[in-house]
Amino acid sequence: MANDPVYLDNNATTRCDPRVVSAMLPYFSEQFGNASSMHAFGSEVGGALARARKQLQTLLGAAFDHEIVYTSGGTEADNMAILSALDTQRGRDEVITSAVEHPAVLSLVAHLEKTGAAKVHIIPVDAKGRLDMEAYRKALGPRTAIVSIMWANNETGTIFPVEKLAEMAHEAGALFHTDAVQAVGKIPMDLKETGIDMLSLSGHKLHGPKGIGALYVRKGVRLRALIRGGHQERGRRAGTENAPGIIGLGMAAELAAEHMHEEQTRVAALRDRLEAGLLASISHSFTTGDPQTRLPNTANVAFEYIEGEAILLLMNREGIAASSGSACTSGSLEPSHVLRAMNVPYTAAHGAIRFSFSRENTEADVDRVLEVMPQIIARLREMSPFWQARDGDGRETEGAFNPTYA
Ligand code: PLP
Repeated sequence: MANDPVYLDNNATTRCDPRVVSAMLPYFSEQFGNASSMHAFGSEVGGALARARKQLQTLLGAAFDHEIVYTSGGTEADNMAILSALDTQRGRDEVITSAVEHPAVLSLVAHLEKTGAAKVHIIPVDAKGRLDMEAYRKALGPRTAIVSIMWANNETGTIFPVEKLAEMAHEAGALFHTDAVQAVGKIPMDLKETGIDMLSLSGHKLHGPKGIGALYVRKGVRLRALIRGGHQERGRRAGTENAPGIIGLGMAAELAAEHMHEEQTRVAALRDRLEAGLLASISHSFTTGDPQTRLPNTANVAFEYIEGEAILLLMNREGIAASSGSACTSGSLEPSHVLRAMNVPYTAAHGAIRFSFSRENTEADVDRVLEVMPQIIARLREMSPFWQARDGDGRETEGAFNPTYA
């Protein structure tokens, strides 16, 4: 009997929950009105959008539902937060961010720097992916418009001390934004109790639909629209509302809140069993990230002396989906910018695999990965010139990598 496929790439995207799909379906057909219309077709949709906003407000612990501005996803929300702050924070033209952000932030700030629109400070991280707090303190100043630092990293799961970072940003008179695309729905949050000014999230990372996200904007924080046109979203984001998407995101938020407590523990136990099993059965492997402060669903394991892409291909043949941080750029395989920022040696960063769980994963998924991975790694190492040459004479070299990762 063929094995069931195993999906462990939930930080890339999650399956839309069937209850989310059911909630959305009527808004494609029977309830197709435009929420801005005066007639019953419109007002029915308007009511559903208002309920969805409440569902998301509850998950975030936001003080007011109108602090939520819907966007096309996490990328748009990140762009909106940073560009708005540069526009509204008079006399301030500097942006602070970290070296391990998603390209939704890093490529935007690179563009701002290149065009002279902002001066950008990129704060480094340590070997566990934790922010260099001293460098952060030094970068803050009277010209800082906004600090944008993610709540949790998408590759390693490392969680950043966002409340502390927001407090420090405020002392310098700057706004604080966090890309919480990987954190929302996975760990509890109560935004009204924090100083976070803006927060980005994305529907498809929490069993909701793709193409919908939101920017939370604390009441009192000025927001400059990125997309101009009609008066939707109180004039903060123009364009006819994506009603099915917003309603789906609302349902996804409600389900995440309902499952969070039990799933956080269950998923972390699956993740821990996978990590322990891999490290015990495969030599020259280690986990990256901060084992103490991290998301419950993410494991990033580096297998030394082989290529992540090759590992993924062989895993795929076994029906197992995960991901590597490397990107094939101009013919050369570059390891992930996150692992490079953490100084993970090239021999290991190249072979790093991210396994990311969701509430849909089971013990059987972990068993299956543990069954096939040792053979896959052994096979690739047999063919790897780096593995053969790891000590020059066929014997193992002690301390080939930084032991802090072990
Ligand atoms: N930020 C982080 C940390 C992410 O992981 C992602 C998606 O991979 C994004 C932003 C982009 O979100 P979206 O796909 O909704 O634009």
